[in-house]
Amino acid sequence: MDDDLDQLFLRAASESAHHRTRVDELPVHPSPDRSALDAAFGGPLLTGPTDSQRVVEDLIAAARPGLVGTVGPRFFGFVIGGASPAATAADMLAAGWDQCAYNEVLSPAAAAAERAAGGWVKELLGIPGQASVGFVTGAQAANTVGLAVGRQRVLADAGWDVALDGLCAAPRVAIVASEERHATIDRAARLLGFGTRSIEPVAATTQGAIDVDALRAKLDELRGRPVIVCLQAGNVNTGACDDLRAATELAHDHAAWVHVDGAFGLWAAASARTAHLVDGLELADSWGTDAHKWLNVPYDCGLAFCADASLHAATMSYAAAYLTGSGALSDPVLGDLTPESSRRARGFAVWAALRELGRDGVAELVDRCCALARRMALRLETGGATVHNDVVLNQVLVSVGDPARTDELVGAVQQEGTCWVGGTTWRGRRLIRISVSNATTTEGDIDASADAILAVAASMAAANP
Ligand SMILES: *Cc1c(COP(=O)(O)O)cnc(C)c1O
Repeated sequence: MDDDLDQLFLRAASESAHHRTRVDELPVHPSPDRSALDAAFGGPLLTGPTDSQRVVEDLIAAARPGLVGTVGPRFFGFVIGGASPAATAADMLAAGWDQCAYNEVLSPAAAAAERAAGGWVKELLGIPGQASVGFVTGAQAANTVGLAVGRQRVLADAGWDVALDGLCAAPRVAIVASEERHATIDRAARLLGFGTRSIEPVAATTQGAIDVDALRAKLDELRGRPVIVCLQAGNVNTGACDDLRAATELAHDHAAWVHVDGAFGLWAAASARTAHLVDGLELADSWGTDAHKWLNVPYDCGLAFCADASLHAATMSYAAAYLTGSGALSDPVLGDLTPESSRRARGFAVWAALRELGRDGVAELVDRCCALARRMALRLETGGATVHNDVVLNQVLVSVGDPARTDELVGAVQQEGTCWVGGTTWRGRRLIRISVSNATTTEGDIDASADAILAVAASMAAANP
């Protein structure tokens, strides 16, 4: 029996390792046949049991044709990151141990790992040591937590307890955010009952950071109203970071809550070369970031931080008589800081990633991705492409030839298979969007990918001048 379990788990582990070694050789995207995948996974729900080994073999066979090389070195879409060896193994253990990270009683080990890893992340990012840390699914959840705690505070300042009385008759809160905010802010505004009409957009600079003068004007206009200001470290198109110091000081002069969406950009703080981009981040009231992007932790894992730890716990916690350890906000349990109650033990993977890299390793990872992004931009530009952003971080926006044909080019590059890039609309132009955030990407990968993009563009131009 134990031998069987060993075999089963080893099979899952060796398939995972096999996928990693193969990912470099296969097209980055499999262009899967959806109906074939549905057929492989589908069929009737069986009445009786199936042997576990058989189930795993069936799963591997069914899934393989539909796996995307996001863990590989030439996937430049979204901001995906990779999955480091130790962090991946740690996540396998989190599943194998099946720990529930709700509280200390359920898993003293998971709680200790979150305390340690959360502390290390604060140290690396320059978030104040007293800040609370909730391990969540990603920056969407982290942004929602930050806005929820901010909602509690700014409405309390206006004499309203939103936890008790809800939003219906509450003073109207304004969410002030750049016109180039991430779309998760809008979803958080919907989920939290503000509605997207509560969002007061502020103009962005030519690089996509919040325009501080426009922010000042907006805050003056909103004087007297409860305000949450949502800043950004790492524009998802350009990588630009808001002037966190100036914007936070302004917002605090207006008694606003300041949340920083730093899904990937906050990691700029981990390197001396890029830390200036997020100068002043420590002044904010709450922060959201991802571990599954730039830290190269497997999906999913994000972190929600709040400078006021007890307000964080008061906003997110709940109590029930059967839940040991719940209710004392001076010593919140893990589940008092997250929207979830039962939760996978994400701290193990973050702990492992940070232990594997060390402080210098994280800085080097950030520097390397930025250098590779600049290399990509330069190589494409040398080949005739136009780079549309200052490549300050790991994001590159380019066009090759006519921007009106960008989508056609993006599709053809994806089809060609050397690398995967996405398209975006930025400042009215359709552009190719390239994000470098995988620890395994090399200069060779960048060169091969840039050359492939240029070659595809050239053959498109030749076929249809
Ligand atoms: C990716 C991203 C998000 C959303 O993060 P998830 O991990 O997908 O929840 C939010 N903001 C920014 C700037 C991002 O890059």
